[in-house]
Amino acid sequence: MAMKINQDECTQCGACIDECPNEAIYENDDGDVFIDADKCTECKEQDPPEPQCVPACAFEAIDKG
Ligand code: SF4
Ligand code: SF4
Repeated sequence: MAMKINQDECTQCGACIDECPNEAIYENDDGDVFIDADKCTECKEQDPPEPQCVPACAFEAIDKG
């Protein structure tokens, strides 16, 4: 499973990118921000095991994929 960015809500602010411990969040050439489903672990290995990117997003654009 992986988290997903709702492109209708995302403002492309980039705040979530540095918060991901697995470098799963990236920006494409158009500035659109995505989560690489192959890299996202939903932070299950973190302590606490909560998605680090979700609280980083002020626009509530990140949700379960
Ligand atoms: S849930 Fe964790 S691993 Fe997945 S994108 Fe967010 S910060 Fe990265
Ligand atoms: S923090 Fe939220 S609004 Fe900003 S780039 Fe990430 S998903 Fe988009």
